[in-house]
Amino acid sequence: MTDTKQSSPTHVVVVGGGFGGVKTALELCDNPSVHVTLVSERPDMYYFPTLYHTATGGADEESSIPLEQIFAGKPVTIKIGRANTVNHEQKILGIEGQSSIIYDIVVFALGVVTNYFNIPGLKEYAYGIKTVPDAERLKRHLHAQLLAGKPDMNYIVVGGGPTGIELAGALSFYLREIVKKHGITHRVPHIDLVEAQTSLMPRLPKKVGRSIARRLRKLGVKLHLNSRVEGANAEELLVSGKALRSHTIIWTAGVANNPFFTNNDFTLSPRSKVQVDEFLRPVGKTDIYIIGDNAETPYSGMAQTALYDGEFVAHNIQKQLAGDPKLAYRPKEPIYITPVGKNWASVEWGRWYFDGWLGWLLRGAADLRGFLDIQPIPEAAEQWSRMFDQEDLCPVCGFSSAPD
Ligand SMILES: Cc1cc2nc3c(=O)[nH]c(=O)nc-3n(C[C@H](O)[C@H](O)[C@H](O)COP(=O)(O)OP(=O)(O)OC[C@H]3O[C@@H](n4cnc5c(N)ncnc54)[C@H](O)[C@@H]3O)c2cc1C
Repeated sequence: MTDTKQSSPTHVVVVGGGFGGVKTALELCDNPSVHVTLVSERPDMYYFPTLYHTATGGADEESSIPLEQIFAGKPVTIKIGRANTVNHEQKILGIEGQSSIIYDIVVFALGVVTNYFNIPGLKEYAYGIKTVPDAERLKRHLHAQLLAGKPDMNYIVVGGGPTGIELAGALSFYLREIVKKHGITHRVPHIDLVEAQTSLMPRLPKKVGRSIARRLRKLGVKLHLNSRVEGANAEELLVSGKALRSHTIIWTAGVANNPFFTNNDFTLSPRSKVQVDEFLRPVGKTDIYIIGDNAETPYSGMAQTALYDGEFVAHNIQKQLAGDPKLAYRPKEPIYITPVGKNWASVEWGRWYFDGWLGWLLRGAADLRGFLDIQPIPEAAEQWSRMFDQEDLCPVCGFSSAPD
């Protein structure tokens, strides 16, 4: 690949149909000197920030957008399949059970996977909230427990990062609501939140964690800080030598980089992210870009970063094709907005911190902005309005019940 203008379209293969991959493909696809193929293992893009809401009474559709819908009318080839190998020299991407693809430039945005740190019993007994089916399974379980007539009423969320906090806050409202609908008036749901560090939101300034802790306690959530999960079984979670009884353990505390990179000899950082240069290329490699959760950058792990990286790489690829000098990557600090229950969110925005109703409004605006990043205004507005839909899979609370 030379850094000069091409006469036939350059084949850019974007791998991963999440925030980073979709943004890259959208930014590149209207350039006539490029043909974009988007490879993704599933036909939908997951909008992770609303998954906690899908798990607590929201509709599946609010957290999932078909790729065909995002790219309707756009010159993008969508290929559903799981990439498993890459040959840097011959520029060939291998897809499980399908023919491989030859690329000129490849962009990887594969996201992360759940990590149970080999803690015994967790994989078998804990619920997750990393995919739409995960959220659906949890929601079904909450209702199935109530329908069976013997709910233990103890719910444990593990992880004091944004996902665990958002879920614990939403659960406190949702459980009260559905328990009441099932006619249980003499018992109150009990929610524990377990975090291994000494504060919530350990990556942010202490005041953020303190304010969120106050809010969660106000909602009746019991916090177990500085507490390590050691094991789980069908009846309880073992935390720092103590057993917490529960039939509902929700694990949000660990992710690991996508195994694709270890399987394909990429150089990883101590955080197991791919080491990248100033253009987000793996060190020593050309025509490969790594973005979003996969790249070792300061704010990796946020949707905002993945979108920013996608835009950055797409612009640089266009510069590369035009023979212009590429720009160096400048990390952009994200805005951290964490909703905790209804009408309240904590906002950490550079030097500013505030929380409450205003934070809640800002979160609504941020979600709309997020949908607008990947869809035209009418579709984004419709997607956003789904956040107010309620969809309960239970004959008492809503629609028909499915088995757990
Ligand atoms: C529950 C939850 C809530 C979150 N809330 C927020 C929030 O409020 N704000 C925020 O900024 N961030 C949030 N995040 C983080 C944010 O979602 C991620 O940082 C973001 O999704 C990363 O984008 P990405 O493109 O790197 O990966 P992803 O969006 O995860 O996309 C990866 C895509 O690659 C596909 N894929 C994986 N492996 C392969 C393969 N081998 N071949 C083909 N396709 C493959 C996956 O199926 C997926 O479609 C949240 C995350 C979770 C789990």
